[in-house]
Amino acid sequence: MTVHGFGFPQGRIEVICGPMFSGKSEELIRRVRRAIIARQRVQVLKPAIDTRYSESHVVSHSDVRLHASCVATVRDLYAAIHPRTEVVGIDEAQFFDEELVAVCNSLANRGMRVIVAGLDMDYRGLPFAPMPRLLGVAEIVTKIQAVCMECGAPASFSQRIKGGDSTVELGSSERYEARCRRHFEPEEARQMELLRARAEVLRVPTTLDA
Ligand SMILES: [Zn+2]
Repeated sequence: MTVHGFGFPQGRIEVICGPMFSGKSEELIRRVRRAIIARQRVQVLKPAIDTRYSESHVVSHSDVRLHASCVATVRDLYAAIHPRTEVVGIDEAQFFDEELVAVCNSLANRGMRVIVAGLDMDYRGLPFAPMPRLLGVAEIVTKIQAVCMECGAPASFSQRIKGGDSTVELGSSERYEARCRRHFEPEEARQMELLRARAEVLRVPTTLDA
């Protein structure tokens, strides 16, 4: 079935990447919603390990949500795609293995629009799993920034903070903040120093995490 202008869009890969709290899921949701409005057949998938908020939704930090299927592996993801699907959304792509690159290519070659969102770097500032190679094969790359929790500058890094601080923790012993290059500090001892210095300036527990 080929209908000019409508029906199958041209197959392509779009990658949305950036640090935590940069709005990647929100941007994925926005694009998928527009496809739904255009009456395209859409499927959204995410790795089963990401059970942060919901088993069956893609949820942004600002609580915008969209139905999603959880799949354990890239093979399961591939098997879950219906042949008539036109738009495939994949969230938290950094948790899938390198096989995701071949699968995205294959889906795009079949005429599907594949929109992939994920962290491009881990908390050490190193490229995260399949993301670097996905960026290499994508037609469209959107790298978005968050806001540095230290200085308010645009932030591209995800800082991991282990316990210690009096700020809100998301149900785990680890907490994350977006940081600019100047305030990103992968080394733990140095990080604790920075936190203590900031606690003295603020004197009040912050609850900026959302
Ligand atoms: Zn900063």
